[in-house]
Amino acid sequence: MPEPVRVTGGKHAGPAERPYDLVLTDVRAVTPAGVIHGGVAVRDGVLLRFLSAEERPRAARTVDGGGRYLLPGLIDSHVHFRTPGLTYKEDWEHGSRAAAAGGVTTVIDMPNTLPPLLDPADAARKAAMVQGRSLVDYRFHLGVAGDDPSPLLDATPREATSVKVFLAGHHTAPTVVRDPASLTRIFGYARESGLRVVLHAEDDGVFELLDSWTGAPGRYLDYERVRPRSGAIVAVAKVLELVRRHGTAVHVLHVSTAEEADLLAAAAHAGLPVTFEVTPHHLSFTAADSARIGARARLSPAIRHERDQRRLWEAVLAGQAATIGSDHAPHTREEKLRPVADAPPGLPGVQEMLPAVFTGMRRHAPWQSPGTHLELIARLLAANPADLFGIDGRKGRLLPGRDADFVLFDADTPWMVTGAAMHSKCGWSAYEGWTMAGQVRLTVRRGQIIYDADAPGTFGPPDGRWLDAARPATPAHPTRGAVR
Ligand SMILES: [Zn+2]
Repeated sequence: MPEPVRVTGGKHAGPAERPYDLVLTDVRAVTPAGVIHGGVAVRDGVLLRFLSAEERPRAARTVDGGGRYLLPGLIDSHVHFRTPGLTYKEDWEHGSRAAAAGGVTTVIDMPNTLPPLLDPADAARKAAMVQGRSLVDYRFHLGVAGDDPSPLLDATPREATSVKVFLAGHHTAPTVVRDPASLTRIFGYARESGLRVVLHAEDDGVFELLDSWTGAPGRYLDYERVRPRSGAIVAVAKVLELVRRHGTAVHVLHVSTAEEADLLAAAAHAGLPVTFEVTPHHLSFTAADSARIGARARLSPAIRHERDQRRLWEAVLAGQAATIGSDHAPHTREEKLRPVADAPPGLPGVQEMLPAVFTGMRRHAPWQSPGTHLELIARLLAANPADLFGIDGRKGRLLPGRDADFVLFDADTPWMVTGAAMHSKCGWSAYEGWTMAGQVRLTVRRGQIIYDADAPGTFGPPDGRWLDAARPATPAHPTRGAVR
């Protein structure tokens, strides 16, 4: 029997108070103040309050958390949902289902679509395309063309708080910026508009030089040698000079080498407004895996070596990396089975991200508790991306008054990844055959259950929203490594 509403005084009191929409009991809530055992109460899409372990208030729906961890809904600040123009690879319906099944409730989508998103005025048009199709809430990174970066000057936080710059070619990157004059303008304009520059930092010039000697890669075994670490290191060194000159805040994506992590951590320590992302795949695979899993691990930047992977884990565990992003970039099986030089780089990953990162943490720092690892995941995959991209007013932390975005995570039950369990339109995973150490049981977005592992194949309503944002608090100030 449901209990009557407890009269506790103040604004929660009164017999006339409506029941809550959703209550989760017996959870270990991963809050900014630590892990709290109890429950959460939700009304109108908002986390209203935490409950003590004994409280069972009246609610339209009550879910017994079974003592599992409750994380803030994850924010994946690096996805390619391929809309518009490339929807044969992925579309918003499939991509957002994969996100929901991976505990992700907000995505920030990349602009390298057909056509690319280069003008802030086009953001509303893209939002209209996505509306009614997305299980999760969304924002977009703006793109920029080197020959005309002036649209950046029109950007307001409503449309974008970030601009993606590609410094190296890419099968799906139509707007690579190569010349110094364009880069200088972009960094200046971004600074003026308060946009954070997010970067694919590999230097095209290095790769052109190598290709002129050896031609394009012919075997997966050779892939790292023809797209080597020097490309990434040179690009990051250039970016740091641009940041020194302009003071523009920069977030370097998919850092793959030990040297980049060293350079960026030192720059942040010295006070430059520099942060960086690592991906689950650079944390999970090494170049030695490339021959075995072939095109599925063909990526740019390439998967590196074991010592790089160790350094990336150190950056994650020590709080030097600010975010983990999936770089969910699906291609069809047919595309991946082309000859090596033509197989496009990229893999799906938004669904695998949380289990893969948690599994890696258990393996690389087994002396730490699962709770410690999930607190770190809550920072890297929720609080920090919310802060960096200006959505921390509603998202990123389990706090009363914020959106009721949750993921209920079972840290004790292993499971095996199969292609059939993946919701991305591409239908495959680089992690097929992996045993993951923990699993997503339930995902809640603004108080609605959008994924339930006990109800396979069914999802919540696709009424994800285009989020508004504020100009991030630290667009041009040092963040000293990890953002809090
Ligand atoms: Zn990407």
